[in-house]
Amino acid sequence: MEYWYCPRFIYFMEILKIRQYEEKRLKVNLGREIHDKKASQPEYLRKKLGVIKQEKSVYLSDSDQGICGIIDELLFLEDGSITFIDFKFAEQGDKYKTQFYQGVFYSLLIAKNYSFKPEKFYIVYTRSSTEPIEFCIKSKDVDKMLVTIQEVHYILKNGFYPKATNYKVRCNDCTYGNICSK
Ligand code: SF4
Repeated sequence: MEYWYCPRFIYFMEILKIRQYEEKRLKVNLGREIHDKKASQPEYLRKKLGVIKQEKSVYLSDSDQGICGIIDELLFLEDGSITFIDFKFAEQGDKYKTQFYQGVFYSLLIAKNYSFKPEKFYIVYTRSSTEPIEFCIKSKDVDKMLVTIQEVHYILKNGFYPKATNYKVRCNDCTYGNICSK
């Protein structure tokens, strides 16, 4: 997620080992998110999707790609397909590309561990409703994600100082703003 916000976050966090000042705020948000997760999971919505089995907080890894992650809800559907739900403490109108690409990242983990490539997934924006919003994954999204993973590995292996984000507005509220050359 940090890489998609700005590639330099990886450098500051993992190479220079500088912690983000907003860590406390993130923890508060995480607490809220967990609370919302517990409070908003009506089972009838899963039935509407054709779910026959679900697993929560599923840890998956791919040693070939050097990636891992925890999927909020892994869903096995009656047609034999697999998909998942990611919960965001956000309004539906707050859709961000980073959230979508996190879903693409999880789809790679599922493809590796279950030999099934999810073509869609769902996000529940817990501040708006409990309704899962569907997102479709195209092969170009997967290709982009694979390139991104390689770029992150390159930074980590070589201590490479990456380019700044193209979205300069993000620099205004960045915890690394004082040490970044922008
Ligand atoms: S100040 Fe801007 S370019 Fe530098 S790390 Fe923050 S978001 Fe990225």
